[in-house]
Amino acid sequence: MEILIQNQNDILKILAAVCLVLGCFSLIIRYRSRSMKYSLVGIEFGAAALLIADLFANKYNGDASVFGFYAVRTACFLFYFLMNFEILAFNYYIICLITGRGKLKEPPKSLKVCFVLVLTDIVLVVISQFTGLCYTFNASNSYQRGPLFLIFFVLSAVAFVLQMINVIKYRKYINSSIRSALIVFTIMPLIAAVLRIFMSDFSVLNISIALTAIFQYIVSLVDQNNVLMKSVNTDALTGLPNQYGFIAEIEKLRDQHDIRNYNTYYIDIARMGQFNKRYGSENGDLIIKKFGLSIASQLEKDEVCGRLGGNFFITFVNKENAEKFLDYLKDVPVDLKIGDEIETIYVTSVIGGYEITDKHIVTEHVVGNAALAANIAKNMMKKPFAYLTKEIMEKLNESRQLEERIPVALKNGEFLPYYQPKVDIDNMELCGAEALARWEYDNALVPPAKFIPVMEKDDSICRLDFYILDRVCKDIVEWIDKGIEPPCISVNFSRRNLGNPVLAEEIYNVIAGNNVPGKYIQVEITETIDEYPLSYLKGVVEALQRYGLTVAIDDFGTGSSSINLLREISFDVLKIDRQFIECRSEKEKKLLEHIIDIAHDIDSHVIAEGVEQMDQIKMLKDYGCSQIQGYVFDKPLRKSEFEERMNRKKYG
Ligand code: C2E
Ligand code: MG
Ligand code: MG
Repeated sequence: MEILIQNQNDILKILAAVCLVLGCFSLIIRYRSRSMKYSLVGIEFGAAALLIADLFANKYNGDASVFGFYAVRTACFLFYFLMNFEILAFNYYIICLITGRGKLKEPPKSLKVCFVLVLTDIVLVVISQFTGLCYTFNASNSYQRGPLFLIFFVLSAVAFVLQMINVIKYRKYINSSIRSALIVFTIMPLIAAVLRIFMSDFSVLNISIALTAIFQYIVSLVDQNNVLMKSVNTDALTGLPNQYGFIAEIEKLRDQHDIRNYNTYYIDIARMGQFNKRYGSENGDLIIKKFGLSIASQLEKDEVCGRLGGNFFITFVNKENAEKFLDYLKDVPVDLKIGDEIETIYVTSVIGGYEITDKHIVTEHVVGNAALAANIAKNMMKKPFAYLTKEIMEKLNESRQLEERIPVALKNGEFLPYYQPKVDIDNMELCGAEALARWEYDNALVPPAKFIPVMEKDDSICRLDFYILDRVCKDIVEWIDKGIEPPCISVNFSRRNLGNPVLAEEIYNVIAGNNVPGKYIQVEITETIDEYPLSYLKGVVEALQRYGLTVAIDDFGTGSSSINLLREISFDVLKIDRQFIECRSEKEKKLLEHIIDIAHDIDSHVIAEGVEQMDQIKMLKDYGCSQIQGYVFDKPLRKSEFEERMNRKKYG
């Protein structure tokens, strides 16, 4: 103790220097909020200034010179003032901690009271300067306690106690290491303040304030790091783990549990676009948040739910609870406040499941495989749920192989048109044909169902359509040269082409470039055009008609706005989809009959595709549809077989 008292000026100098340096660091470093940064800067610089003032006060204490007279009074004033300033800055720091990021809307009342206590102390200091209430100086210019000295310290002590109580009360807003550090740091000056009452010859209080400031700096760095780590792993909207957080959680869980007891589910909220349109994007975010928290609340302690961004969630669920969890996911109620009313929305999802069977699987793959399953459910199977099974994996590999092979096949011309005849049942004569792409690969024929969906993923389908059109044109020229009069051949154009602003012109250029008269070619476009606005399709159809080509709407009746399509666009031909021909009920028959009537009324030709049975022909004839395409007459044929049909012309 003696040594400490002897060296206390050196101790004060070192601590002041450290606080100054830390104050500068606090100025440079970015903290999680500006107010937190400035409270720290205040604490560090305040502590340094306090110690310097104390050094001066010690140095000139008892110096009876004129300079000493003013120096000791100024230093004393600064010392008392800065001590209170420290408490103020510390108070502000605690407020920043417990109100930051919207944890508490307003600072607690008692912390506001702290400000009042400390400000009262500051007023007392100012008054003391002139009245000697808290501190005074004797004839030899030595510092002495005044009559209100104790009140001054009691006010500071009450402020510290209130701060400590608040740290404890709002502990859930402060992470554990910071919390315990704060409690220690509030207790330390408190003890020092009490000690100070009995030990006037040692600056125990100042030293403890300086140490508190230094610890405070270290603690805020730790806090900063924790916040950073948490924000890296947490989704801001829902507070659930994000992708990294989810993987980190599974890494932790797999240390304690056998990962093979779990499934992962990738959840893609359905109709999110519609929700955003209908309720606005702010409510859309709210739906996502409430949905996420709702499904997370269904999980046990050893299960995890994370948000991967957008409307995608991922969950890690014990196999025993999987059924119950999937059942809950079928229809998740979410309450939205619209105006004064509460509306309950039932959220459904497309879910991809992955059953973990390999104990050593890489955690990232657990997420990836479930995502793959969801993709398959949504895009390939068009179902709300799929598990990533072995068969699906095989299919996927096959489609990947095709994906890689397609560009080469297009280059090598491995695709060719097959021709499916259309027959006029009034005179049983061939009246047209549809060109359908086939891929000759490895001495086998790959059907469109395998390669069209793969090609539709990118724009290679557009290249295929133009390639087939060109092949058809060349075949037509060849037939005409051979003296065969071909019927009008329809060529399919994927809706993906609608993004091409000069589509009609390019189609016409291929036909004209091959010297084929327009009457031999018909363009077929499918009804489902969800990717592009209706106006695009309308523009293309009208441009093609201006070039003298006819346009058919393929698979008519399968879309959701077929009638609207007819109102907006005048097609030359309506191609009624197979689903409509397979009439099972009276209602379906009536619908078919009226669709045919409508087509005639608006001056469109009508053709039925996918006709397989004679009784269907009879029914179609009764309803007034005379053009038929279907297995009942022919399957898609090789060019040579189709030539034979053209020569024969008649069907029996
Ligand atoms: P689509 O254009 O509607 O063609 C009719 C499909 O129905 C053809 O299948 C045809 O073989 C089949 N079909 C015809 N009659 C019957 C029948 O009586 N019963 C049954 N069950 N099916 C019948 P395909 O050739 O497998 O083509 C499937 C789809 O692939 C086509 O449907 C078309 O959307 C697409 N596609 C084919 N070639 C091309 C092409 O060159 N370009 C584009 N964009 N799509 C093509
Ligand atoms: Mg077609
Ligand atoms: Mg069709």
